[in-house]
Amino acid sequence: MTLWLLGTQLDRAGDYLDDHDRVLLIEASAFADRRPYHPHKLTLVFAAMRQFRDDLRERGLTVDYRQVERFGDGLDAHFDAHPGDELTVPRPAAHGAASRLRELVADRGGTLSFVRNPTFLLTPSEFDEWAACRTTNDPDTYRLEGFYRWMRRETGVLMDGEEPAGGEWNFDEENRETPPEGWEPPEPPRFEPDETTREVASWVDTAFDTFVDADEAAPFRWPVTREAALSALETFVDARFAEFGAYQDAMVEGEWAMSHSLLSASINLGLLRPMEVIERAERAYEAGEAPINSVEGFVRQLLGWREFVRHVYRRSMPGMADANQLDQTAELPPAYWTGDTDMTCLSEAVGHVREHGYAHHIERLMVLANFALVYGAEPGELNEWFHEGFVDAFHWVTTPNVVGMGSFATDALSSKPYASSGSYVNRMSDYCSSCPYAVSRDTGEGACPFNSLYWTFLREHEERLRGTGRMGLMYSHVDDKDAAEWDALEERAARVRELARQGEL
Ligand SMILES: Cc1cc2nc3c(=O)[nH]c(=O)nc-3n(C[C@H](O)[C@H](O)[C@H](O)COP(=O)(O)OP(=O)(O)OC[C@H]3O[C@@H](n4cnc5c(N)ncnc54)[C@H](O)[C@@H]3O)c2cc1C
Ligand code: SF4
Repeated sequence: MTLWLLGTQLDRAGDYLDDHDRVLLIEASAFADRRPYHPHKLTLVFAAMRQFRDDLRERGLTVDYRQVERFGDGLDAHFDAHPGDELTVPRPAAHGAASRLRELVADRGGTLSFVRNPTFLLTPSEFDEWAACRTTNDPDTYRLEGFYRWMRRETGVLMDGEEPAGGEWNFDEENRETPPEGWEPPEPPRFEPDETTREVASWVDTAFDTFVDADEAAPFRWPVTREAALSALETFVDARFAEFGAYQDAMVEGEWAMSHSLLSASINLGLLRPMEVIERAERAYEAGEAPINSVEGFVRQLLGWREFVRHVYRRSMPGMADANQLDQTAELPPAYWTGDTDMTCLSEAVGHVREHGYAHHIERLMVLANFALVYGAEPGELNEWFHEGFVDAFHWVTTPNVVGMGSFATDALSSKPYASSGSYVNRMSDYCSSCPYAVSRDTGEGACPFNSLYWTFLREHEERLRGTGRMGLMYSHVDDKDAAEWDALEERAARVRELARQGEL
């Protein structure tokens, strides 16, 4: 009997580890040949697997580590050594993966069964129980708030008996501040790569075509072991958690990490369990190390959003990956790869991705996805771009976030698009002050590109959007514009598109 763990299931606390004769890990490299992933993402995934192998062996477990091109090759080798073996694997999150794996195993004369995936809090049937109890007019749409409150009550996290800790379910009003001038967040930890990780990094550098060349990226810094991930969690709680809430939506030039935790990759790979991170956050609140707005804001992301998107994705696939309710078809502008643009906001956000394989949530949503949305980019291409560029990106998490939230290609997750003009960026960042474009102007040469794209986007999709929740105010501004203003907006938007296509925006 063999426990098969995938590269995103590196959870050594699993109580199933000791119930099996051996652990199988298959390091298949063909996926990395198919797309230009960020070198840090490839280094992270392969190094974390190898470190995990060594860690399990040190604990006395038998580990079969197969380095192959394709999964099937790894299974061939496994069944040559253990004919007819019974395999168990935690249920994978990617759509269709469970049936693909089962087929691969059955073709080789083995059997495969699934156990609870410890990298998520809920099993599919637990989420489905919540979904079945909702009162909704449309069973294919899901809204976070009800789910989140249900999760708080079910788990007792941040609850005072029946009431939410601090007296409110959310503290969003306190979480939209921008830091004072001169504010600098503490530098996030950098985990110096050891020999195993350095070896992987240089193999990645020579073996694959990547999102950026290794020497264009910053030095690799991500935790690849559980010890390092735990240390990253502690450093976050000690140094940045207190300010996380207030500056959650803020952006500051030159600050790629702000006060975010940078823990998503560790959690998505199984190095940290979501509940242990949530419990650490709760303890910080109880010990007075972080205020309620930070703690609730953080818990909402992990107990709420992460579980929510994982299961809405599961229930909305396969349609979600190809959804495109606004019929957007434009190719992404080259600036998404080069970072070469005068727009400070876009150049900062793409620069962070190129350097670190990471940009924080508000840059992902309100700069990278928002620009692609108002520009008219095809949601599937944007999803691929996120998938390739980010260290924490996997199909189950990019698809709902990029196709659902960012592109509004389906209304499964939200009732309105996260579309905004430059005024949002201006309110939440200092980017506009150094930008050669004028955020105050909508039209003419030098006007902020976001503005004309935003207004023409609203007009183009009026039929679909005017009646949707909370868009009334925006459409009252649309109604106020006269024909001459629309002509100038259309002209500026066309010019912006042309410059973007030529890589000259
Ligand atoms: C367009 C877009 C693309 C995204 N792509 C990814 C992705 O590829 N991988 C990924 O893990 N997250 C993704 N997210 C969600 C979120 O932006 C990241 O989880 C977060 O920025 C990671 O940084 P952090 O660990 O510093 O997060 P923090 O801001 O410190 O948040 C804490 C944790 O909450 C979880 N979380 C927060 N929001 C979400 C969410 N919407 N979905 C899932 N988990 C969430 C993450 O585990 C994160 O570590 C995306 C969001 C958007 C809008
Ligand atoms: S002016 Fe427009 S393009 Fe420049 S940083 Fe502000 S929002 Fe971005």
